[in-house]
Amino acid sequence: MNLEDYKGIYVFIEQREGFVQNVALELLGQARRLADELNDKVYAMLLGHNIAAKAQGLIAAGADEVLVVDAPELADYTTEPYTQAICKIINDRKPDSVLIGATTLGRDLGPRVSARVKTGLTADCTKIEVGANRELLMTRPAFGGNLMATIVCKNHRPQMGTVRPGVLFAIDADTSREGIITDYKVEFDSSKIKVKLVKTVKEETDLIDITEARILVSGGRGIGNQEGFDAMDSLATTLDAEVSASRAMVDAGYIGHERQVGQTGKTVRPDLYFAFGISGAIQHVAGMEDSDLIIAVNKDKDAPIFQVSDLGIVGDAKQIIKKLNERLNK
Ligand SMILES: Cc1cc2nc3c(=O)[nH]c(=O)nc-3n(C[C@H](O)[C@H](O)[C@H](O)COP(=O)(O)OP(=O)(O)OC[C@H]3O[C@@H](n4cnc5c(N)ncnc54)[C@H](O)[C@@H]3O)c2cc1C
Repeated sequence: MNLEDYKGIYVFIEQREGFVQNVALELLGQARRLADELNDKVYAMLLGHNIAAKAQGLIAAGADEVLVVDAPELADYTTEPYTQAICKIINDRKPDSVLIGATTLGRDLGPRVSARVKTGLTADCTKIEVGANRELLMTRPAFGGNLMATIVCKNHRPQMGTVRPGVLFAIDADTSREGIITDYKVEFDSSKIKVKLVKTVKEETDLIDITEARILVSGGRGIGNQEGFDAMDSLATTLDAEVSASRAMVDAGYIGHERQVGQTGKTVRPDLYFAFGISGAIQHVAGMEDSDLIIAVNKDKDAPIFQVSDLGIVGDAKQIIKKLNERLNK
């Protein structure tokens, strides 16, 4: 087959306990934009058990066809049956490209599938565009984030990439969109399924993933110490917000890495992002510049964070956090 005979952008729809994850909708949105540019189609691969009811929503989110693989083997995610199902779709349908979310699950599934169908995988992409020869240009941080590398899968199909949650945009759901829902049958080779899910133990936490938060109260070195962090926590409670931080504060041990915003942390896009005592290094800004409203507080009027903020306050972050909290509580 020639490379141009491969057709369609296929998106793996990550669902957990039947809930379609945001990253899948973001990938569908980008796949829609790429397909419109390439005059191609978008296919959603929805795997799970008793999940068919979710298919219509994927058409509204940009898919032309939803392939529903409904099987008890797919009730909970394990690598082998999911890999078998995706590989069967790839071998039958010969897609031009396959996109998967760079989540814990996607980072497990993507490489296994790409090795089995003998193609490359660009992991952890932050951007996907169409190149001059209609190939996908997949960009990701390289050398620890010091360089951005754009990678092309020249000689093999499908072109595969995992994409970070929060970097692409979903399209507005349009329930009038029409598409096909296909019940896709897969015969599983059970002799290869060596891993069985015995028990799921969920980490108990009240914290919301920072990529899902509507308001983020983020602190940097200018916050200084635990007292500063406690003040931020209290402001976050008042605002019903989540706390996040720059890498400086993660490295200093004040907060976990899962709360780090930036190139080597998470990409966030809340309605409101407070940057308290954060200088605005390029690696931090890369993770938050698309927030709807950015309010920065820094004692240095020339801090680069003011270049990306909508509202800038020059002053002592700790005092301003306290005053703001008092006022809001009143
Ligand atoms: C490969 C690579 C990847 C990286 N990835 C990330 C990443 O994902 N996320 C990230 O955040 N960083 C990342 N970094 C680090 C980044 O370059 C910066 O070093 C880091 O963001 C700085 O954190 P900061 O702004 O908290 O601290 P600083 O740069 O030290 O800034 C502190 C700021 O606080 C202000 N300040 C001090 N006291 C007060 C006060 N009392 N009130 C108000 N303001 C005050 C100062 O004026 C200053 O602007 C990465 C670096 C590299 C090389």
